[in-house]
Amino acid sequence: KRQIIDDHEVDGATVLARALKEQGIQYMFGIVGVPVFEIATAAQAAGIKFISMRNEQAASYAASAIGFLTRRPAVCLTVSGPGVIHAFAGMANAQENCWPLIVIGGSCDRNQESMGGFQEYPQVEQARPYCKFSARPSSVDKIPFYIEKAVRQSTFGRPGVSYIDLPGDMIAGRVPEKSLRFIHSCPSPPLMCASMSSVVKAVDLLIGAQKPLIVIGKGAAYSGAEWVIRDLVDTTRLPFLPTPMGKGVVPDNHPLCVAAARSKALQEADLVLLLGARLNWILHFGAPPRFRPDVKIIQVDICAEEIGNNVYPVVPLLGDISAVVQQAMSADHSVPLNYYAAFSEIQKVLPKDCMIVNEGSNTMDIGRTMMPNILPRHRLDAGTFGTMGVGIGFAVAAAIWCRDYAPGKRVVCVEGDSAFGFSGMEIETLTRNDLL
Ligand code: ADP
Repeated sequence: KRQIIDDHEVDGATVLARALKEQGIQYMFGIVGVPVFEIATAAQAAGIKFISMRNEQAASYAASAIGFLTRRPAVCLTVSGPGVIHAFAGMANAQENCWPLIVIGGSCDRNQESMGGFQEYPQVEQARPYCKFSARPSSVDKIPFYIEKAVRQSTFGRPGVSYIDLPGDMIAGRVPEKSLRFIHSCPSPPLMCASMSSVVKAVDLLIGAQKPLIVIGKGAAYSGAEWVIRDLVDTTRLPFLPTPMGKGVVPDNHPLCVAAARSKALQEADLVLLLGARLNWILHFGAPPRFRPDVKIIQVDICAEEIGNNVYPVVPLLGDISAVVQQAMSADHSVPLNYYAAFSEIQKVLPKDCMIVNEGSNTMDIGRTMMPNILPRHRLDAGTFGTMGVGIGFAVAAAIWCRDYAPGKRVVCVEGDSAFGFSGMEIETLTRNDLL
C-alpha cells in the first residue's frame, strides 16, 4: 500500500492549480478549450473560483481589475494562439495601469513545435512586450517555481503582468507527487522607504510653499495608503486633487478636495506633492499652460525609472506611498506636533524591551504602527472590547509586574488626552506605591 501512495502521480494541470492555490490566487477568468480544459477543472478542484467568459480580452480585463482591487493577481486562462493574442489587450492595459495580472496560455505540444502544430505561435516571445516576466516552465515539477516567480514579479516593484506558457503535453504530463516541491507563498512586497534626508527636504519645502497641492493618483489607491493620506490632509490642511482612479482615497466631499476647481488648482500650485500618479497626458505632462512654468514637484513613486519623466522633481522620494507619507508626517515638526512626529520622538527613547501601555483613539491606532514591540505580552491596550480608561490601571499592574518579576524593565504609558481623563487620578496610586 505504501508503494502505491509513494508512486502516486499528478498531472501538470493539478500541479499548476495547487501552485496557484499555494500562492493565494483566488480567481481565474478565461475560456476553456484545447489544451487548457484540465486546468480550469483542476483550479476549481483546488478551490479557485473559475469565471467562464466569452472572450479572452474581457477575461484579461476582469482578471486585472481583481489585481487592482485586492493587490493579489488573478489569472486569465487562455487557449493557444488566438486565445493568447486576445489576452494581449488586457495585458497591455494592466501593464499601462501598473496592475498585477497573471496570464496562463496553453500552447501546442512540444513535439509538434516548428511543424505547424495546432495554433502554434511563439507565445513567450510575443507576450514579452506586454509584461514584466514571460516564460515557459522547464518541466512539470518546476511549475510551482515559475508560479511563485510570476506572482512576485507581478506584485513587487511597479506592479505589472506575468505570462506563463504551458504546452499541452506539459498540462497532461504526469510526475510523481513526491517529486513536487511547492514554493512558500510569496508575501506582500517589502515596504520601501525613501531616504530620510530627502523626506526632510520635502517637508521643509511643503511648509514654505505659498500654494502647495497634493495630487493623489491610482498608485495611492492601489497601495492602500488611504489611512495615512487622510491623516496627512487632515493634519496639514493641504488641498488635494485626485486623478480619476485616485478618487476616494480621501473622500471627494472632503472640504479640502479641489476637484471642482481642477484647472485653477493645477495652474496656480507652486509646489505639487505627487502621490502615485504619472505626469502623463492625464496630468498634462506637468507642463504649461496647465502648470506654472516654475512649478516644483515632489514625486513619490515605487518605480525608480518613473522619477523625472517629463519634469525632474525638486525632491524625488523613491518608496512605497504609505511608508513615505508616514516618514513625511514624522519629519514634520511644525507646532502643534502631529501624532507621527510625536511618536517618532518617543520611539527614539523607548527602551527596546519595555512594556507599552497605549490607549486613546488615534494615539492607539497610530501608536500600534509607530511603537515596535519585540517581546510577547509587552503591549496592553484597549483590547477586544475597545475599552477606554484601562490605561493607567494597566500601567499600575505592569509596573508591579516589572518590579516583582523583571526589575529594571521600564513601563511606558502613552495616553490620548481623552483616555487619560478616564483614569488620570490613578497616577496617585502609582505615586503612593512608589511605582513612578
Ligand atoms: P493616475 O492614472 O492616477 O494618474 P498613474 O497610473 O499614472 O496614476 O500612476 C500610478 C503610479 O503609482 C505609477 O507610476 C506606479 O509606479 C506608482 N505606484 C504604484 N504602486 C505604488 C506604491 N505602492 N507606492 C508608490 N508608488 C506606487
